[in-house]
Amino acid sequence: MKQKSFENLLKRLHGLTPDQTEALIRSVQDMTAQNAALGVIDQKARDASCPHCSAADKQKWGRTRTGTQRYRCSQCRKTYNGRTDSSIARIQRLDLFYRVVQDMFASPIPGSVRQLAKELSISNDTVWRWRQIIQRSLSQSIEPLSGIVELDETFVRESRKGSREWVLHQRDPAQYPKPPRLRWYEYKLTGTLMKRGLSKWRLPVLTAMDRSGNRFAERLPDRRDRTIYQCLSPIIRRDAALCSDGLSAYARFAQASGISHFVLGSKPGARKIGQSFHIQNVNALHSRMKDFLRPFKGPAKKYLDGCVDWYFVRKRIEPQQALDGFVKRANGLQV
Ligand SMILES: [Zn+2]
Repeated sequence: MKQKSFENLLKRLHGLTPDQTEALIRSVQDMTAQNAALGVIDQKARDASCPHCSAADKQKWGRTRTGTQRYRCSQCRKTYNGRTDSSIARIQRLDLFYRVVQDMFASPIPGSVRQLAKELSISNDTVWRWRQIIQRSLSQSIEPLSGIVELDETFVRESRKGSREWVLHQRDPAQYPKPPRLRWYEYKLTGTLMKRGLSKWRLPVLTAMDRSGNRFAERLPDRRDRTIYQCLSPIIRRDAALCSDGLSAYARFAQASGISHFVLGSKPGARKIGQSFHIQNVNALHSRMKDFLRPFKGPAKKYLDGCVDWYFVRKRIEPQQALDGFVKRANGLQV
């Protein structure tokens, strides 16, 4: 825009009603955020070498449709920008994608896929696909936990939402084997008894946190000693003090690593040792995580890891950092 027309625009702003001013401020804030996002991508391209042939020599070559800087490699003469070869390379509406990122990481409660699709005037499928791209690129890279470390596991019911196993089996039992369990609603419908207590259909999520606020969670295939050892070994410092329930795998891990270990019971009077050894913080964290998962009505098993990572990364990063992560990911770096 020319300077003169810009000045005219500024003059006309005085005629806005308070509501219009609010709307204007909001849209300027949105634009600032999106420009910052584009800045992240440009920064990547400025520092990177050619994704096609790894040559460092390049020259500026116009701008892409989304507004990021395009370069041309002086060696192979192919063009590229900061998103080339990344998981978000083929997203046309980067501005809308960024709104989805913001919704996932900056809003107090993320909206539903449908709400968001309606708001952005795009299809449900697109929002869902973008969320999957975002979730897949997340990983919890954390400082190893130290000091008093609370450990506990929580369980999420196995879900095969969207699975065709049952339908296919019914149609052609010879080709498709019988699924290992009924659909959950069929138990009630047919009066079949569910197994009491912990069955293999309750998926364990191991959670650990220390008192300085570092947190970690991972869905485990089972609760065997070896699985738990492999999960905990890289994330807990050897000078930590573990607090956990009486699961033998924790005791074995503590013993094998030479870490002091306090076993807490579930009965009144046994839930605390002294003033500070307890697992109440981690239990509160479980309940908050379950609150977060509730609107998804039991995410399918294949998406559960993504949801858990999403919850744990959510409070720790800004939308811009998340975007930075997608771009970096192409180079094999961690978020
Ligand atoms: Zn090249």
